[in-house]
Amino acid sequence: MTNRIILGKYGEIVLKGLNKRVFEEILVNNIKQRLVSLKGQYLSDYSIKRAQSTLYIDLDPDADFEQTAAETAKVFGLASVCVAYKAKKDMEHIKEIAADCFRDQLSMAGSFKIAAKRSDKEFAYNSPEICNIIGGHILDKFPHLQVDVHTPDITVHVEIRDFGAYIHGDAIPAAGGMPVGSSGRVLLMLSGGIDSPVAGYLMAKRGLTLEAVHFASPPYTGPKSLEKVKNLCKALMPYTGEIKLHIVGFTEMQEAINKHCRDDLSTVITRRMMIKAANAIAAESDCDAMVTGESLAQVASQTLRAIRCTDQAAEIPVLRPVVGMDKREIVDIARRIGTYEISTLPYEDCCTVFTPKHPRTKPELKYVLQEESKFDYDGILRRGDSV
Ligand code: ATP
Ligand code: MG
Repeated sequence: MTNRIILGKYGEIVLKGLNKRVFEEILVNNIKQRLVSLKGQYLSDYSIKRAQSTLYIDLDPDADFEQTAAETAKVFGLASVCVAYKAKKDMEHIKEIAADCFRDQLSMAGSFKIAAKRSDKEFAYNSPEICNIIGGHILDKFPHLQVDVHTPDITVHVEIRDFGAYIHGDAIPAAGGMPVGSSGRVLLMLSGGIDSPVAGYLMAKRGLTLEAVHFASPPYTGPKSLEKVKNLCKALMPYTGEIKLHIVGFTEMQEAINKHCRDDLSTVITRRMMIKAANAIAAESDCDAMVTGESLAQVASQTLRAIRCTDQAAEIPVLRPVVGMDKREIVDIARRIGTYEISTLPYEDCCTVFTPKHPRTKPELKYVLQEESKFDYDGILRRGDSV
């Protein structure tokens, strides 16, 4: 069996100057963690080398290279991933591998092209020469084929690199972004809805490590809702790495708000109390910001005025990566990353249970604070609530 390898090409990291090594190290560590978690499923052994803004991932010969490549593509920091055939830096060997390894695809195709890249400038042939020689050989072997440089049915990529020659089809686009752990730590406010997991995914994409907090109100919310939130974390972890989940009881708080505060302001007060509870968790967990799944104007509690009132309760920045997105755009991402099916399971959320009929869309902080002064929320926050 011909020797194969996974090549992972860097995304934005290539633009980093002096810090590039630090980013690379975090990326390699994240990929190692990903590969370790796939052991026994798609592979049994791996090794990683890096050179020329590319990671060379060797697997045991029995590994499932395609599945491992697809899973590796979820690690933030990589722009693309491909399974390549290794060849010696020798034209005869490259010819043989290109024609042999792509035999099935080339037999089926009507047209093809060779795309050559020579990063080892010592190699005796330049890129156009490589294209001509390998292309000529393929035409000899598969005389039915046409060369089409614009819209070929199949492109055979030939890369001449430091460690050898690599031959592969089109690379699969990877998750992009920055390696998780390179930008800091944030606390994701994770409901069971569609939006907050997407918000977490998007911030992890910019290199942030996630912790998550979920507010539950038993018996209004049941164990299935907790299960759902745990499963959302699990679904995010191939992208984000390990997520520590804090589950906070919120029943006493919601009942107190319901009892003491004006109905039309209860939604914004609830949100503020969540933020206040999250302030303390963030401080303890060393998080420099919170993340929510709020999208402007999606519901009454997500108007600009409501967001202003909510923000006033926060001691650290609140990041809202989906604030400018339409629901459809958020749903598209949720489907792609595999959280949508979990989010749409029909288990109640603590907010839906207490949702007022007519929440105020333009709450004023003055009145919100007045309502909050009617009960001892600090006491409730301090005491905590068991789940
Ligand atoms: P989502 O789809 O994320 O539930 P949503 O459109 O239902 O969002 P809201 O219910 O108004 O919006 O909640 C706004 C944000 O507040 C959520 O995206 C989430 O970040 C946070 N949030 C709401 N409920 C909870 C909860 N029970 N635990 C933790 N965070 C929550
Ligand atoms: Mg919700």
